[in-house]
Amino acid sequence: MTDSRASVSLNDFQQLIRQMYLEKDAARGVDGTFMWLMEEVGELAAALRDGSHDEQGEEFADVLAWLTTIANVVGVDLADAVQRKYGTGCPGCGQFVCTCDDAGKP
Ligand SMILES: [Zn+2]
Repeated sequence: MTDSRASVSLNDFQQLIRQMYLEKDAARGVDGTFMWLMEEVGELAAALRDGSHDEQGEEFADVLAWLTTIANVVGVDLADAVQRKYGTGCPGCGQFVCTCDDAGKP
């Protein structure tokens, strides 16, 4: 029996989003799709301010979905990009628990 709550890999999620939305989002283009991402970021901000935990979770999922669909439109493999950038530790200091100066962005 399949557990519907089983974790989804980033790769699986990108593939799912590709199937659901690539055609529409490619037709809309990066600029228009990016605007939707920004709208969802705004909704996440509102949910973080005064939404329920469930509402916050939904908005995180929406932001991740729109971010992922834009990666599909431009042909970026997210799992590969994340592995390259963060797979060997913090890009700033190279540590798995960041030791970068608090004043700087890692
Ligand atoms: Zn660091």
